[in-house]
Amino acid sequence: MQNLAAFKELLSLPKRIVITTHVYPDADALGSSLALAGYLLKTGHQVNVIAPTDYPDFLKWMEGNENVLIFQGNEEKAQYQIENADLVFCLDFSSLKRIGKLGEMVADSDAEKVLIDHHLNPETFAQYVLWSTEAAATAELVYDLIEMLDGTEKITRSMAEALYAGLVTDTGNFKLPSTTPHVHEIVANLMELGADVSRVSHNIYDQNSFGRIRLMGFALLERLELIEDTNVAFFYLSLEDKQRFNYKPGDSEGLVNYGMSIEGVNVSAIFIEEQEEVKISFRSFGEIPINDFARKYFNGGGHKNAAGATSTDSLEDTIAKFKQLVTNQTKELNYEV
Ligand code: 5GP
Ligand code: MN
Repeated sequence: MQNLAAFKELLSLPKRIVITTHVYPDADALGSSLALAGYLLKTGHQVNVIAPTDYPDFLKWMEGNENVLIFQGNEEKAQYQIENADLVFCLDFSSLKRIGKLGEMVADSDAEKVLIDHHLNPETFAQYVLWSTEAAATAELVYDLIEMLDGTEKITRSMAEALYAGLVTDTGNFKLPSTTPHVHEIVANLMELGADVSRVSHNIYDQNSFGRIRLMGFALLERLELIEDTNVAFFYLSLEDKQRFNYKPGDSEGLVNYGMSIEGVNVSAIFIEEQEEVKISFRSFGEIPINDFARKYFNGGGHKNAAGATSTDSLEDTIAKFKQLVTNQTKELNYEV
């Protein structure tokens, strides 16, 4: 952060603070938000965390979860908190447009804004910015910030567990190239601070419903395709498929990675039919910039190896377009891995 001294000064007196994050918060979004909230509460501030939408039950073990305000259905209360805030922190996203109406409220408020994020192309709406695409997770940046402000002794066991949740998930269990020595140093320190990493992983990964496991089995058997003469695999799930397995948001999480785990495959996609759109997740390996592909052809975006998009074409048309692009050896996919 360039103006760290001014930021420290700002936090030297008690402030009314709102922390917000992206829609469908994941473990990094929620974990970094709640760890930061824990720190700010401990240092004498008044803190409200607002999530644009609800999030999966397997994240609800985090300390402070019970006080998170879900924007959807609580718009007036959120507006009151934002209007009366001195400071608004935006964590794990870079564009206020991505949080819709909540983003408009944040943009309209007189509060000073703080952006902490590791995604590409941040908007310039914040006075204080801690942004690095080199960071594996926003949790890494929150850890670094607490270290810069006060020292990591301020991190309690439950804060350490929330930060670990962000790191373990955003690094794909420490498999992705974002996994640096610094990430492992942080994890070592979080464990010294009491984080029970086995319990965190159990809380996050071992909470599948019977329906979800059966849906995954079905998808692997019936909805996985390899595109001939390419290194590309994809899945799809129709509305009917989802209904059959009593689908809940998050149930298809991680499925796309099974495509990546096939020998020789270095691009995987999943197309999930919603009521009025198709949600797409893309993954790639090595130098293939799947975010460029998502942006150029599907108006999406994301990281080099993990991107997404939303299509308003039908499921069939969206898949047909994808297959066409892949078989035509689109240049964005035509990289040495
Ligand atoms: P996931 O596949 O986990 O849903 O998304 C992977 C990454 O792609 C996210 O971290 C986010 O950066 C990006 N992403 C997902 N969906 C969209 C989308 O609809 N639009 C844009 N611009 N990026 C997305
Ligand atoms: Mn993140």
